[in-house]
Amino acid sequence: MKNVVLLGSTGSIGTSTLKVADDLPERIRLVGLAAGTNTKLLADQTLKYRPEAISVTNLDDANELSRAFGTSARVYSGRDGLLKLATLPSADIVLIAIVGTAGLQPALAAIRAGKDIAIASKEILVMAGETVMNEARRCGVKVLAVDSEHSAIFQCLQDKPARSVRRLWLTASGGPFRTTPKQEFPNITVARALQHPSWVMGRKITIDSATLFNKGLEMIEARWLFDIEMGRVRVIVHPQSIIHSMIEFIDGSMLAQLSTPDMCLPIQYALTYPDRVNSERVQTNLAKIGSLTFEEPDLERFPALNLARHAGEIGGTLPAVLNAANEAAVDAFCSGKISFEQITQTVQRAMERHEVVEHPTLDQILAADAWARADAL
Ligand code: NDP
Repeated sequence: MKNVVLLGSTGSIGTSTLKVADDLPERIRLVGLAAGTNTKLLADQTLKYRPEAISVTNLDDANELSRAFGTSARVYSGRDGLLKLATLPSADIVLIAIVGTAGLQPALAAIRAGKDIAIASKEILVMAGETVMNEARRCGVKVLAVDSEHSAIFQCLQDKPARSVRRLWLTASGGPFRTTPKQEFPNITVARALQHPSWVMGRKITIDSATLFNKGLEMIEARWLFDIEMGRVRVIVHPQSIIHSMIEFIDGSMLAQLSTPDMCLPIQYALTYPDRVNSERVQTNLAKIGSLTFEEPDLERFPALNLARHAGEIGGTLPAVLNAANEAAVDAFCSGKISFEQITQTVQRAMERHEVVEHPTLDQILAADAWARADAL
């Protein structure tokens, strides 16, 4: 039985995690749930899963939940609430699925409290991969991947040393504009960008999948998670999204992990690792799928990949700037202030103007994040 704290329980990853908990009541106990503003859903989840503690963003919402739950659940709010949950004494593992940068400090707090962490929020390793992985090594805790690509690599790698790996191959569906000609990009609307061909996800990551920033962020995440330089992290477009990623070893052999796309699978593996546990949820019929195809990513139509590679190679505060400028630009695109193509242009401009700090402290990373948001728009 693992005691799990789930940060971001009302989101896409959060609700998939609860499905996994429903499947495995003898393996997973939810001891803490945190949400942002969806208090109605959090209240329903609290009634069903009976966690010891819950947290929401606003104090007023927390007070209301406190009145509703009395002494049956401790209710916290804001940044401190997330930190309280991340360090809950009864927790074995903290799964972080909060969109944006709010997951970084809870991740570090959980590590320092000796908890294993399962990371969905890619911002954490993109912004502060060096710090987070160093702290995890120092505290002797595991950092487990929830992202399907990194879970796939983790499953194939299984403790083989980085020196046995020639390249990591992250697969990308190519997003909704994989075959859209460049001259049509000015006509891309928010509604079209939100139509992902193979995954149902939160709004931010769906737009990132359309620009391919999602894959760019994943490249940086992989660099830290698997302690491998950026030059050996590659991307290949695989429209069927059946192979979730691959490893090419130095002898030329490649290992891949395959399944029909369903986030419950990597979530379950992160929460039951090192065990594999029976689940009927994911069924993969290769005969029905028929063929698996691969393409080179088009770096001209999707410059986000090169921006992310550059940010990962330079390191320091540059990945935090890329991440923050992208978040601000996605918000601006979704509220109709900038065009689809301006998302990438906004990020590039912020990266060009930023003075990189090498081996930054957490404060310097957060300062770079704030600077990039202000500079971006
Ligand atoms: P969603 O937008 O669906 O959910 C975001 C969650 O974060 C919600 O529960 C939201 O609460 C909560 N939240 C937002 N801000 C705060 C805050 N300040 N404090 C506490 N909770 C907060 O996102 P996804 O589930 O799609 O993605 C979550 C993370 O996982 C992202 O970093 C994404 O990149 C990553 N990821 C997602 C995948 C997917 O398939 N969806 C795949 C791989 C990675 P509320 O709704 O109550 O406001």
